[in-house]
Amino acid sequence: MGDVELEGPEPLVVGIPPAPGRYERDLDVIHYDIELVIPPENDRVSSRTTLRYLREVAGPHLVTLDFTGMQVELVTWQGRTLDFRHEDGLLEFAAPGSPGVFDTLQVEIMSRGVPADGLILRDNVHGQPTAFADNWPDRARFWFPSNDHLSDRAAVSFTIHAPPGRRVVANGVQVAGPAPADSTRTGGVDGLLTWRWESAVPIPTYLMVVGVADLEVLDLGTAACGEAPASPRSDGCVEVTGWAFAPDTAHARRVFQRAPEMVDLYVDMFGPYPYEKLAHVQAATRFGGMENASTIFYSEQAIAEGRDLEGTVAHEIVHQWFGNSVTPADWAHLWISEGFASYFGPYFWEHVEGRQALVDRMEAHRERVLAAPVVRERPVVDRTPENLLDLLNANSYQKGALVLHMLRWVTGDRIFFQGVRRFYQTHSGGNAATEDFQRIMEEVHGESLEWFFRQWLHAPGYPEYRVEWSWNGARNEVHLRVRQEQDSAWPTFRMPMEVEFQLDGGVHRQVLMMDGREWTRTLPLPGEPLAVRLDPDGWLLARIHEGSQIREGR
Ligand SMILES: [Zn+2]
Repeated sequence: MGDVELEGPEPLVVGIPPAPGRYERDLDVIHYDIELVIPPENDRVSSRTTLRYLREVAGPHLVTLDFTGMQVELVTWQGRTLDFRHEDGLLEFAAPGSPGVFDTLQVEIMSRGVPADGLILRDNVHGQPTAFADNWPDRARFWFPSNDHLSDRAAVSFTIHAPPGRRVVANGVQVAGPAPADSTRTGGVDGLLTWRWESAVPIPTYLMVVGVADLEVLDLGTAACGEAPASPRSDGCVEVTGWAFAPDTAHARRVFQRAPEMVDLYVDMFGPYPYEKLAHVQAATRFGGMENASTIFYSEQAIAEGRDLEGTVAHEIVHQWFGNSVTPADWAHLWISEGFASYFGPYFWEHVEGRQALVDRMEAHRERVLAAPVVRERPVVDRTPENLLDLLNANSYQKGALVLHMLRWVTGDRIFFQGVRRFYQTHSGGNAATEDFQRIMEEVHGESLEWFFRQWLHAPGYPEYRVEWSWNGARNEVHLRVRQEQDSAWPTFRMPMEVEFQLDGGVHRQVLMMDGREWTRTLPLPGEPLAVRLDPDGWLLARIHEGSQIREGR
């Protein structure tokens, strides 16, 4: 590494949605090889990123990569030094041309500087130097040149030269090291140790991470035995480990200890575990947890304080299937990642403790949704956010989870779980839009669910029901009236609803399809109801005003 510190170009603002068509060009990266030098001072990095990409057509072409903030020193393409342009967050160069169709081409980019984001170099809660990547949604471009969009997945390998005393963790499996660094590769590595990790399973850039810190490794056991095609182990299981700073290992072990049991449940529910291993890492991330493929990062503060993060652990594990392996086709479909994790994470407790554990968690989700301004204003499938970080909201998470809960109510358990499993099998290792999920659920259900998806995912709001009833003793009939009083700009909802009549001698329940702003029905009952409750088992996202009995004729 040289002595002269070069200033990098002005970094981009995080989270600005990509310009329309930006990622519709034919750049298909198939492999990133990322080499980083982390000096003992932990104050800057120098890097070499080698991308291999596939060209389906021959001839000269323009390559546009995302890269911002760091200084590019050299671009070589197929071994030839090229001129390049690096501004406005884009690194562009004209490639002289590929001789044939479906050629794999290679570009190598040398750079250095202090990443403005994405790779966070800082002291941890104990004052020790650490480097942790944190890429969601578009922050990979702050530390390596990339096609930084969730629609392009690639294999990745990391060669990290780190000071002794720091351990390196990354996606995939460790394939070499630590070994004394070979200074012929990248300058300035004397005294450093080289670690090499590799994810042969292709993953989107927002999930590509490394962590470099004084970490202890906790063995948590194995999981997914015989159901982990990417496992490097002869027994076909995946290793589940915890990685924590020395003072926090007891907390970390307690928080992470149920992870293997969670993985096994989700293997049973969704299908095989998609990655080589599963590491749970105490890390620097701006989120409580970040689901990086096979290498989940958790808030270092939360673990140091001994907070109960089991709900987060289950949520991030679900993401290994939904989010990481089935990835939203675009940010508008983020609920396919966050809504699924926010439903099937809590489902772990239904599985181990019984149904009420899920009902309680859905009630907490419902309270969040009913209080959230964004739910009143925007649909879950939100195609026009001002900033991608704004999508981390009650629509993507809690309302998305409640949509799944309601879909389960509409279709029944057997169809619902069969559909989710088929959705995973069909789209694992790829991208999926809301329409893809709808289509598969309709296939399994055997009828259209257009009405359901339209009202819950493509429009804002939720129903506000007001129920009134009267009793006709002469005919032993109850007359029920349910009005939908929500904002007129929101949909008029159609939903099956269970109604519970509390009678003198017990309860009578009936499922009724309710639609229309004003819905009425007359039903025979064995006796006069003392009270009427809508949705007693808590399936629906709704605000329910349980009005009183109307004494007719008085
Ligand atoms: Zn999540």
